[in-house]
Amino acid sequence: MNRAETILQSLRDLIRFEAQLRKVEADSKEHRDIETRIDALRAPLPTSILVHHDRRKARGKLTVAPVRRGVCGACHLGLPHARLFELVAKPTELNVCDNCGAFIYLAEDEQTEQRPTQPKPKAVAQATNSKRPARHRRQLAS
Ligand SMILES: [Zn+2]
Repeated sequence: MNRAETILQSLRDLIRFEAQLRKVEADSKEHRDIETRIDALRAPLPTSILVHHDRRKARGKLTVAPVRRGVCGACHLGLPHARLFELVAKPTELNVCDNCGAFIYLAEDEQTEQRPTQPKPKAVAQATNSKRPARHRRQLAS
């Protein structure tokens, strides 16, 4: 994993543990265990990222959100095409939602759809058709 992916993964784990922390009893062993894991996750993260995360958490917003069908998972607004293109072209960089400021990544189930595919057979068929005389094609159409 590269740096951006590591940061995203750590933040996603952090969000998961923070949610767990709210469900367990304060002062319990479980609570302390989760806190230890949260501290371990936060330790290597850059301060600027942690400040961003804590600020968003305080407002009840997600720091990291998946993008599905061009829509940000945090604010549910469509992303500009340029941003979507960057998500696909530069998955190794930290991308931020233009609207809500969440770190965004392409949802795992959408990544497979972005793989380059073989030229479609339809395009080949069209190329062959265009070589036919126009007169012949008109006859076919009528
Ligand atoms: Zn957003």
